[in-house]
Amino acid sequence: MAETGACPICLEEGATGYTCASCGVRACSPRHLVAHRGGSSDHQGGCLPFRVEKEEERGRHFIATRDIKALELVLVDR
Ligand SMILES: [Zn+2]
Ligand SMILES: [Zn+2]
Repeated sequence: MAETGACPICLEEGATGYTCASCGVRACSPRHLVAHRGGSSDHQGGCLPFRVEKEEERGRHFIATRDIKALELVLVDR
């Protein structure tokens, strides 16, 4: 199991106090856990199938956490 150690929404490292009961993604806060669930507080809305990673060279990008191997979108911040 890969562990990012960072909230998938805001990338705050070490802030993983809230775990999604549906997919195991860990977020910094209830608000970001809800955001990860597509704005729904329950599990029925479905989780966002990706997390955001930040790399020195590539910047922020989405990594699919489900079986969508090819899906990797680069975020353009500016
Ligand atoms: Zn967060
Ligand atoms: Zn989830």
